[in-house]
Amino acid sequence: KQAEFEQLKDLPAESLDGVRVRLMMNAGLRSDLPALDITNADGIGLFRTEFQFLVSATLPRKGRQVALYKDVLEAAADRPVIFRTVDIGGDKAVPYVDSEGDREENPAMGWRAIRLALARSGLLAAQASALLEAAAGRTLYLMFPMVTEPWEYEQARAIVEKRRRRLAAAGLPHAAEVKFGAMLEVPSLAMVLDELLPRLDFLSIGTNDLTQFLLAADRGNPRLADRYDWLSRGLLRFLKLVVDQAHPAGVPVSICGEMGGRPLEALALMAIGVERLSITPAAIGPVKAMIRSARLEPLKAKMAEWLATPGADIRALLTAEADAQGI
Ligand code: PEP
Ligand code: MG
Repeated sequence: KQAEFEQLKDLPAESLDGVRVRLMMNAGLRSDLPALDITNADGIGLFRTEFQFLVSATLPRKGRQVALYKDVLEAAADRPVIFRTVDIGGDKAVPYVDSEGDREENPAMGWRAIRLALARSGLLAAQASALLEAAAGRTLYLMFPMVTEPWEYEQARAIVEKRRRRLAAAGLPHAAEVKFGAMLEVPSLAMVLDELLPRLDFLSIGTNDLTQFLLAADRGNPRLADRYDWLSRGLLRFLKLVVDQAHPAGVPVSICGEMGGRPLEALALMAIGVERLSITPAAIGPVKAMIRSARLEPLKAKMAEWLATPGADIRALLTAEADAQGI
């Protein structure tokens, strides 16, 4: 199997009927970077910047942040890297930021991510400076985690833009351009997405968190593993609504949760029109092999039918279809 995936390395992630899927990888540490060339990923679709904060006993100074981001961009060369601003707080508490983590009953739904970043805006501004500086002369792709309301995105974006203007005015090196995105992890954002889409360069769906909030099933609780179901009709219908809204608005959608790294789940995503995935590096070979042996157009029609069929068992239907297609 491994040898088979090696052989696919330089071949495109393209289905038998010509759908080209962009396969990016998730990363968070320097040690993840060699995987870019090993897998020949199309870029980094999610760089979890909080890892540097989580492994540090003190707040990482700007110089250390810039050094890491530069190494990441250098390793990616001309491939895009989407940096996510820190998703700390909640259960990813760091001792040097006054967080509520250990006092919260539901830290996943607590004071974390963009919520904390807006309340401690100095932290976000410093990180923005580091990212803008590291991306000097190139495009910086930046997204914010756990956006619930469009105003949160606007405020965070304004903080970054202010920093960019400041660097420009001071004649300091900074990103040539910034592309802004939001992560869709909180279900209610989907209901006000029409207001946010005109302001987005891209949208990234974090299905790890989204699934737990949509299905009210803790992503880390093994007793709920069968309820935390990426192929549930509710979740797939929901994802399709988002994709069908974003694409006509010209906003590319990618999935950056673990769901996209499982071949059957990835196939379900292709079947609802997703064409960009950011997944764990080890999953790139298996998912690419799946894509290259699939016919997606007929599958899209079938998926639409299944999603409209009361009680349809998507996992069973999809497995049977994959077998029939010889995937
Ligand atoms: C997600 O929630 O799907 C996601 C990619 O973010 P994280 O797993 O870091 O919470
Ligand atoms: Mg998340």
